Amino acid sequence: MQNDDIEFINCANVLKAIETDLNQPSRAQIAKYLGLSRTAVSMVVKKLIAANLVTELEIEKSGRGRPGTPLALDGSYWHAIGAAYSLRLWTFCVVNLNGQPILTHKEHVETTDQDETVEVLIRGLRHVESKVDKPLLPGYGIGPPGLIDPKTGTVFRADDMGWIKELPLKRLVEEATGKKAFIINRYRANGVAELTFGGHDLTKNIMYIGVGTGIAGSVYFEGTLLNSTKYRFGHMVIDPHGPLCGCGQYGCLQAMASEKALLSYAHAKMEEDPTFLASYADQPITAKLLIDLAEQGDVHAQSCLSHIASALGIAILTIANVIAPDEVVIGGPIGEASTFLVDEIRKAAYDHLLDWQVKALTISKGSQGDYGSVLGAAAFLLEQKMELLLGEGCPTIS
Ligand SMILES: [Zn+2]
Repeated sequence: MQNDDIEFINCANVLKAIETDLNQPSRAQIAKYLGLSRTAVSMVVKKLIAANLVTELEIEKSGRGRPGTPLALDGSYWHAIGAAYSLRLWTFCVVNLNGQPILTHKEHVETTDQDETVEVLIRGLRHVESKVDKPLLPGYGIGPPGLIDPKTGTVFRADDMGWIKELPLKRLVEEATGKKAFIINRYRANGVAELTFGGHDLTKNIMYIGVGTGIAGSVYFEGTLLNSTKYRFGHMVIDPHGPLCGCGQYGCLQAMASEKALLSYAHAKMEEDPTFLASYADQPITAKLLIDLAEQGDVHAQSCLSHIASALGIAILTIANVIAPDEVVIGGPIGEASTFLVDEIRKAAYDHLLDWQVKALTISKGSQGDYGSVLGAAAFLLEQKMELLLGEGCPTIS
């Protein structure tokens, strides 16, 4: 099947109807929903069942007449491998088509060196593959840090890793493994997991902001991820007189609200005022310590989180004034760990928005945890399942 064939498009639409739009629909319900004939839907469903993408469920007997057979994704056959990087660690997972993990694996990386990071990634992919006896989609979903070209899968740079040299990650993985690699920024991957598995209303427009050593954002319009390098949320300028960012600009959101900004602010306040966090002067100040203290009510730690919250609040209100998302989800290792931070971000953004904008915008905390990025990388691969199994160059399943 060619990807622009009407047959391929029908397959993709029927699969989407079964997977996200409708709840365990019958062939007749899909035909009505998509405006296709029942015969056309039956033929497509036959192909999807033969490809082990869709399964027929038991008919529940209720009421009069014979109801159509309900259809659902087949979670028992195909599986997908995802990998994501965080804090000198590659985490790997294998999930079924419903995103349920069946295996997790971790590999440490000793340095932030690019070659070593890629070497450990490929070693981990091979290891995970050798441990799974399920059919695997012929590809990998990979979530590295940095700014990524979604077409070439090249990491342009990752300031928080000190990577200023381009890393052709997709090409390196494909050459080493012979399989396709789909590359997505780790926080953007976490956003994919949040949207896919976080119980959000997919008909709405949602923005996900990952806050950690870097800051990345994902925008979804009606459930579709805008996966473009052309928006660089972390480098939105908040204050042109602010601190220097790794990208060369001053006052980028990443320079004002990432982990480094949080810790720099805490250290500067400690130097300025000997009573500031005085009980912790002889130990390393970490983001985790500040988050834990803030949750316990320590006013100094709270002021540090409020400082980065104000920059994030300005970023959100700017986005709200331009594209008016229905929901903004704060995630990433720092965002998801701190209810206090999310409350402060909400206050900072709402302070500057009009009442009716405030009513129309929910700001919530992400729910996917540390595992979100790797789960999202696997979910990103799952999004390509039609292309991988029935797309151009693949044998037609009849
Ligand atoms: Zn920047």
